[in-house]
Amino acid sequence: MTKTKIITTGGAGYIGSHTAVALQEAGFEVVLIDNLSNSNEEVVHQIAKITGTTPRLEKVDLCKEQEAFACFQRHQDAMGVIHFAALKAVGESVAQPTRYYHNNLVSMLHVLEAMQKHNIPNLIFSSSATVYGQPDQLPVTENTPLQEAASPYGQTKQMNEVMIRDAVHAGEIPQAISLRYFNPVGAHDSALIGELPIGIPNNLMPFITQTAIGIRKELAVFGGDYDTPDGTALRDYIHVMDLAEAHVQALQFQLEGKQNEKYDIYNLGTGVGSTVLEVIHSFEKTSGRKLPYRIVDRRPGDVAMIYANVDKAAKSLGWRTQRDLDEMTRTAWKWEQYAREKMGS
Ligand code: NAD
Ligand code: UDP
Repeated sequence: MTKTKIITTGGAGYIGSHTAVALQEAGFEVVLIDNLSNSNEEVVHQIAKITGTTPRLEKVDLCKEQEAFACFQRHQDAMGVIHFAALKAVGESVAQPTRYYHNNLVSMLHVLEAMQKHNIPNLIFSSSATVYGQPDQLPVTENTPLQEAASPYGQTKQMNEVMIRDAVHAGEIPQAISLRYFNPVGAHDSALIGELPIGIPNNLMPFITQTAIGIRKELAVFGGDYDTPDGTALRDYIHVMDLAEAHVQALQFQLEGKQNEKYDIYNLGTGVGSTVLEVIHSFEKTSGRKLPYRIVDRRPGDVAMIYANVDKAAKSLGWRTQRDLDEMTRTAWKWEQYAREKMGS
């Protein structure tokens, strides 16, 4: 039987590679489109080791019009596109806004144009909780008003959502879903794929694992005087495999014709917040290591607290997270220990 083909842009990256595994395990044929600007070609073999199938990798820069269109033409039989490809470092986006606007907006335009040209009917987009800023009420639902984004990166997520919404409402593409991720962490249990931050990590979990393995001296905990249970900032961490499985369920929902709103939005989190100290304690428990850390000043632009209401995804998609914080820190640590040498980095 022919498998349903799905294009994943940015499919060689952190979330894309885990989603490729989940898609292949669910019986889809997966094509990865990636310019490898923040990923490694080796990931294709790692996905094959996990699933038994090597996905096709198209080394294409989606900002290059001819390259991008030619690639979509080769795969015009695809039934859906999951658009992960983007530059994602918040601080870097403040320093290099034009590069971020160019990459994240032009690639999105080309995806929309190519889908329209080849009648590819379904789109799923990687959005982010960053679109909510510091909301007045917690937990945040999909109807919580958006706030002006604090960074060019956040602006591109808001703008991308608008571009998709308008394209759908005008009938240029039949239907789309934006998934607003909260804080994705952890790795596949095999430790064959995971997150590979380039340089000094900005995010908490890779900074913790790099500190524990000795690459960094100590973790700076940004802020100990927030109005939270222990004074450190609170986030809704979600295991990357739970996130990956949400993409499969959202796609199946679309393919089965169950999407009532032509453009729909879902929060993807656990619904439970954890403070920085709770993450550290979970890490110490699952790794058996003491983590050197020091509480320092707040990081500019950080919100005190945010966590998701995930009722909508549970009700419509039938999706719920399966993995808790200990599973997140355990797999992140396993990946840090075993994976770097395997990925040749
Ligand atoms: P990642 O950097 O690991 O993956 C993104 C991939 O896109 C990379 O492999 C990169 O090479 C590729 N890419 C970038 N620009 C491209 C272009 N012009 N053409 C082709 N490929 C290109 O990042 P990730 O963590 O897997 O994030 C995936 C998506 O999820 C991104 O859109 C990101 O903004 C979003 N997101 C991530 C997080 C997070 O914390 N990781 C949170 C919320 C949303
Ligand atoms: N954080 C920290 N030290 C670090 C990195 C992050 O204390 O080295 C905190 C950060 O202030 C935030 C939480 O960890 O409260 C998650 O930060 P991350 O950058 O991973 O995600 P964000 O929610 O900012 O997108």
